[in-house]
Parts: sequence; C-alpha cells; structure tokens
Amino acid sequence: MMSATRPDEKLVSSPRCWVRRHWALTALAACVLVILGIYIYLQTPVLWFVSIEPGIVPTHEQAGPTRIMVVAPHPDDGILGAGGTMAAAAAEGASVLVVYLTNGDANRAARRVITMNPFHIPSQYRALGTRRQKEAVLALQRLGLSSAAAVFLNYPDRGLTPLLESHWSPDVPYKSRFTNRDAKYSAQAFNPSANYCGANLVEDLASILSRYQPMILYLPHPEDAHPDHHAGYRAVMLALEASASPAASPETRCFMVHLFEERWPVPGGVHVSLPLSILPVSIAAEPWHSAVLPKWAVSAKMNAIRAHYSQWLTSRRFLAAFVRTNEIYVSATNVAEVTAK
Ligand SMILES: [Zn+2]
Repeated sequence: MMSATRPDEKLVSSPRCWVRRHWALTALAACVLVILGIYIYLQTPVLWFVSIEPGIVPTHEQAGPTRIMVVAPHPDDGILGAGGTMAAAAAEGASVLVVYLTNGDANRAARRVITMNPFHIPSQYRALGTRRQKEAVLALQRLGLSSAAAVFLNYPDRGLTPLLESHWSPDVPYKSRFTNRDAKYSAQAFNPSANYCGANLVEDLASILSRYQPMILYLPHPEDAHPDHHAGYRAVMLALEASASPAASPETRCFMVHLFEERWPVPGGVHVSLPLSILPVSIAAEPWHSAVLPKWAVSAKMNAIRAHYSQWLTSRRFLAAFVRTNEIYVSATNVAEVTAK
C-alpha cells in the first residue's frame, strides 16, 4: 500500500517540476536569450576593442624608401583590390597607407541587418560608418599593418559623384540623405572640419599625395560600375594634377570591383586556389597585369575580408570571390590610352 504524500513534499518542488509549471516564463526567457545572442553576434564584440587612430599622414621621409598608397572608395575596397599585395609589401618592410574616401555609411542592407530595424534613422547610418571604420582597421591589422595605416576622409558614401559635378564649392555643400550630414562627422577623420564638397575632397587627396609621395598608387578603375568608384578615380586624377611634382608622380595601378554588364569575379564564393581572371569584354583590351600572391598572403586577405563583418553578412559570396592566387591591375596611363582609341 502506497504511503500518503506528506504535507511538506508539496512545498518542495524539483527544478523539472518548476520548469513544467512555468513553461511560458521559460520559453520567454529562452527567446530573450536567443535575441540577445543574435544582437551581440551582429554587433561583433571583437570590434569593441578596435580603436581608430587620428588621421595623421606620415611624410615621405618618415614613411621610408618604399611607399604604397591605396585609395579605397569604401572600407572594403582596398582589401578586395590589393589586400594580398599590401600584406606582402608590408612583410617586406614597405610603408603602406590606405586612404578611405567614405566610411561606407550608406549601405542600407548592412544597417538593416545589424540594427534589426527597417526604418530610416540617420544616426544609425553614422553608427554604421563608425563601425565600418573599425572593420577597416581590423582588416589592416589582419594583413600585418598597424591601425595608423588607415586614413579616413569621411566623405559621403554614394555622394562622391555629386561632389565633383554639382557640389564643387564649399559654399554649396552636399548633404547625405543617409547620414543627414553635410560635413565630416568622424573626429578621427583627416581634415575633420571640412564640409562635403569636391574641392575639399581633391584638396585632401592632394595634400596626402604631396606629404606621403607614394611610389605606387592603387586606385579604382575609371570604368568601375559603382558611381563612388569612378568618381574616386576622377578625384585622384585631379589631386595628382594639383600636387604635380616630379617627386610625387607615382606608378598608378587601377583595380576593378564592380563590372557594369557582367557578373565578376566568376565563379563566386571561395576559390582560393584559382587565379583571378583578366577582365572580360569591354576592358579586356587594356594591358592588365597579374601579381601572384604568396599563399600566406592569400590567407591573410581572406581573414582581412572577413573582418568586414557588416559586408560579409550580406555579400560573402561576392567578397570571397576576390580572394584568389593573384591580384590584377592596369596602369591609369594605359586606361587613358585605350579609352582614347
Ligand atoms: Zn566600393
């Protein structure tokens, strides 16, 4: 015969019994933990420990005899076009400077994913810009460069063409519809008090070119489909003219990121043992050079690209396709010659 339950047994519940009785509360707590986990993952805690250096450009004497400068319209472009080359050059003792024209703060998809918010909020675009600066610094560190190699100009993402065409003078600054700013908002930017106009953009670049005097200058290809990329090329060309001196005439190497008509690079995704093909169709006539990378530099480039978490979340197949056994470029002089024909 079973004994009767003692009165005090009803008062002492086992944990399992508690969960069963409070299942709704447990499910709610689990949901909160999952959402918190996703939020922390999207905020990428590793970036909390990355700091952005003030935009100080070394003189050519300070930088040393071998100086490479990379002009990136957006924070991930320098890595896509010349990340492996930067890593290999730095390992051999060269000075490398990466000049970011914009903070990449107009990327809607990245902002929506990271903030989990579909609504247009300018402060969130500025926060995305600051985050992308940190991603850029982390990427350079993964290539073996110091955070001081990053110089941010903080001009408006998706606004470089208007700067050159309709907002040249400081008297008519361009206002970004994303960040709601008509001037630089990053305290660490180069020339931080400048407003958004073409003259300031070109003056900043000319000042950097005169001071650093790169021997090799990587810049976007003029036929890149992204408006900020071909505007970036034009701005650099204007700056080279403005700073023209025999000592400041670097060898130019244009890299391509976005093609107009064709999907490129192909195949998409991770193919680190394949070479990057010379570009098809319209610009195939240009004399493209292929720089073969050491294996370790290919790995460093992949790690650097993955540091751009905000982009990796939404475009990993496209980004990974740039990590190949080589990098390709064409001289700006040759581009001009082919275009003139
Ligand atoms: Zn870009």
